[in-house]
Amino acid sequence: MAETRSIESYVLDLCQYIDAWDYENMNNVYETLLKMRASFKEKHYLNYWRVLQCVGEVAADKLIYLVTKSPVASCKKHNISNLVTVMELFSESLSTVAFIKRVNHYKSDILPVVFTAIEQREYPELVRKGFVALYRMIIVGKTTLVTPYMKHGILRNIYQQIKCQQGVIRVDCVETVSYCAKLVAALLQLGDEETRRSILKSNIPNELDVYVVRLKKSKVNWEEVDDVLEFYDQAKMSFLLGSNSKPEDWNSKDKLIEELKQDLEVFIFCSSPPCRKIQADQEKFLYCGQCKLSRYCSPGCQKEHWKLGHKEMCLHGNGPKL
Ligand SMILES: [Zn+2]
Ligand SMILES: [Zn+2]
Repeated sequence: MAETRSIESYVLDLCQYIDAWDYENMNNVYETLLKMRASFKEKHYLNYWRVLQCVGEVAADKLIYLVTKSPVASCKKHNISNLVTVMELFSESLSTVAFIKRVNHYKSDILPVVFTAIEQREYPELVRKGFVALYRMIIVGKTTLVTPYMKHGILRNIYQQIKCQQGVIRVDCVETVSYCAKLVAALLQLGDEETRRSILKSNIPNELDVYVVRLKKSKVNWEEVDDVLEFYDQAKMSFLLGSNSKPEDWNSKDKLIEELKQDLEVFIFCSSPPCRKIQADQEKFLYCGQCKLSRYCSPGCQKEHWKLGHKEMCLHGNGPKL
């Protein structure tokens, strides 16, 4: 049962399966993890995030490589379910600037997979994960991602998503639209004149207007609704400001912190296995100076983790220093 296993044993298993492209076992472990996430016991629930954060730290490049090679199974049904697991692991790991920088380095291989995720229609959850990934990638990649996104047809995808969510006011649908609004705001702020013109000429502004009116009428008060409204306003501001908004004013680190804060489920943990303490509101954990992936509540924990094996794992097995 879940409680008898340590974080490290889950991480070790997952890393092994990711390495071997063993989707079946990966899916099995992930299903167990999802049960932990849904658990009412806080310890299990928190351990889900501990495992995911740890995978992002020790297997960043393995995970990136896996995403670029997905889906690999021959039958369509398995393709999709494998992709769901891979995208889950992937998007949950996109919580540090260093990890996202590594992801963006491989953007030409990763983007086709993420766009496959948002273009399929069978699993709405997968669409949402795809949008989360795209948003977190552009937060850090800034202007370098605008052109690749436009080439892959981001505007068409955003428009279709908002349009197909018009009929239903459900919390997951609202969340998907919130990511659409976030992406529009980011593209308007970071894109050049041509990008801005394309957005203004598209049906997106109108579709968003209609959606927001309907959302306000519905009088639901989920946090996701505030997200949509906030980013809708940001997008509106960027329409008006035009070329006066400067991409140089964009601060990746702040934007990512802001984004993670909105996702109330994300916690930050000390990376030292005997500790794994949660970062409190006023606290600021320090990153390992070398890999910038592991985080510590104190210099003592950093030293301890180094001795316990981070020395071998830091950067090693995580590809080139970027
Ligand atoms: Zn600690
Ligand atoms: Zn390190």
